[in-house]
Amino acid sequence: MIGNNGLRRRTLLAAAAGVAAAPFAAGPAFAAAPKVYLDPGHGGTDPGAVANGLQEKTLTLNIALQTRDILKANWAVDVRMSRTSDITRSLAYRTDDANAWGAAIFVSIHINAGGGNGFESYRYPGVGATTQRLQSTVHSNVLSQMRTIASVTDRGKKESNLHVLRESNMPAVLTENLFIDTLANANLLKRADFITATARGHARGIAAFLGL
Ligand SMILES: [Zn+2]
Repeated sequence: MIGNNGLRRRTLLAAAAGVAAAPFAAGPAFAAAPKVYLDPGHGGTDPGAVANGLQEKTLTLNIALQTRDILKANWAVDVRMSRTSDITRSLAYRTDDANAWGAAIFVSIHINAGGGNGFESYRYPGVGATTQRLQSTVHSNVLSQMRTIASVTDRGKKESNLHVLRESNMPAVLTENLFIDTLANANLLKRADFITATARGHARGIAAFLGL
């Protein structure tokens, strides 16, 4: 699955390079696509939260990979990910990589734990209107897509001093997509259609924020 995606991406990149290399092609129609950084939480030696036969690192990667694929299939965006497989990435790597790449937005995907119920999102405390709009757009789109599958509680748009929100140089949002240790939530996270709806919500929210 990942290998096939890699081949497809290389083919698309080659095609894009051919277009960009055409003489006198530079102009508004060839403006650079917005750079979207997707950060699947945890990975490798860090499984994140574990319960009900699920691991957070596997769920976040699945959601992020599908978010990338939906974005690239529907809009002209450049997507980079902190990881595309089950490998260990430090928090510093994730924000350093996004900052060095010059990402336009940073979207970190997590699964909650601690016995609650539902969906919530986070921004860094005290951020301006642009980041608040990113959070609102992603939050509402994820919720509405999740709700095409099942009833999901809205826990709200919250603030937290988290590394990936604090150290990223661009508007950043972190989503907590249900609770792995609450059985009703875990049963949704086990469903392929719910994971795809969650990814579609992230993709639609990102596209809407970027005005695509
Ligand atoms: Zn997490």
